[in-house]
Amino acid sequence: MIVGTVREIKNHEYRVGLTPESVHELTAHGHRVLVESGAGEGIGAHDALYTRAGGEIVADAREVFAAAGMIVKVKEPQPEERAMLRPGQILYTYLHLAPDPGQTRDLIASGATCIAYETVTDGHGGLPLLKPMSQVAGRMSIQAGATALEKANGGRGVLLGGVPGVLPAKVCVIGGGVVGFNAAQMAAGLGADVTILDRSPEVLERLGIYFEARAKTRFSNRANLAECVAEADLVIGAVLIPGAAAPKLVSAEMLKMMKKGAVLVDVAIDQGGCFETSHPTTHADPTYVVDGIVHYCVANMPGAVARTSTYALNNVTLPHALRIADLGWKEALRADSHLLDGLNVWDGKVTYRAVAEALDLPH
Ligand code: NAD
Repeated sequence: MIVGTVREIKNHEYRVGLTPESVHELTAHGHRVLVESGAGEGIGAHDALYTRAGGEIVADAREVFAAAGMIVKVKEPQPEERAMLRPGQILYTYLHLAPDPGQTRDLIASGATCIAYETVTDGHGGLPLLKPMSQVAGRMSIQAGATALEKANGGRGVLLGGVPGVLPAKVCVIGGGVVGFNAAQMAAGLGADVTILDRSPEVLERLGIYFEARAKTRFSNRANLAECVAEADLVIGAVLIPGAAAPKLVSAEMLKMMKKGAVLVDVAIDQGGCFETSHPTTHADPTYVVDGIVHYCVANMPGAVARTSTYALNNVTLPHALRIADLGWKEALRADSHLLDGLNVWDGKVTYRAVAEALDLPH
């Protein structure tokens, strides 16, 4: 198969669909790989690295879309990319179609076979192609929080790990899933005093077994949450209720009980945020202050560490890309029901129930 990857054109997107190492794997399987010149610049992967891996550099995205049987990307195709898709062509990328009728309409019209990373499943009820981005965001939330806690950034001037003779900072992680676990790992590793709140007994038990004495676990109810937030130097919002907006667990009123200069990092901001006072911010201007509490609410945290994020994403997307290229998409999807869950649009129809229902379309 001819596989292609292009430079991402969405604003401030530096990740790339295929790393040179992924290109190497595809070419070793006998496939041709076309790479738009400069596609990997954002992660420091220059054209020469792709050529060395067996890829063929082409001048622009138009050439890639014209020749490739499968396009591997990161973000949903932008309008000018959608216009280049062809019937029968495979598009393998994040799509997030449910809130995006314009894109869905264009993908239906294109006749392309569109496989969305975010709906591919695994055998444990998880979403394995979303997981690495939650791992990145969870780990980054502690870095972001530590920086915001510095005096010059509006914080209360507290070092997460303390020093010998001085107590460490208190970190409260709300939600002990992928983001929360990774945040707690980083905070505990730095020596902070970590408490993780969740409302799932199974999750609390798993966390308790993993962290032993390095982090405390606490059932998430109103009283426990209010106490934990009031005592914290840094609060990480990491809850998710699948398919729903994040619950507003920290009210504007609760900020008044917090220490001045404490920091809230709302990782759940992409689902609307779990703090009442959250609103989305950008990497260029990531924080703002409400009632003396510093808020960090960047909706695309993994974008700041594009290189790590690209490699983490490729680790989970490449095995499927290889199977699609080796077997053809029909055979690959027939052989793997979890990959089949990724099929969102095929032959001018929406094939994913939740997207069709959200947009009131037949499927
Ligand atoms: P997850 O499903 O692995 O974990 C969510 C956890 O929240 C679960 O353990 C659940 O039991 C818990 N929870 C639900 N309601 C709760 C409550 N009331 N109190 C305490 N815990 C509660 O999800 P995840 O992968 O960790 O993602 C968390 C959020 O981070 C999602 O909204 C996700 O979209 C977001 N996210 C944001 C970015 C970003 O760049 N900002 C990046 C990746 C993920």
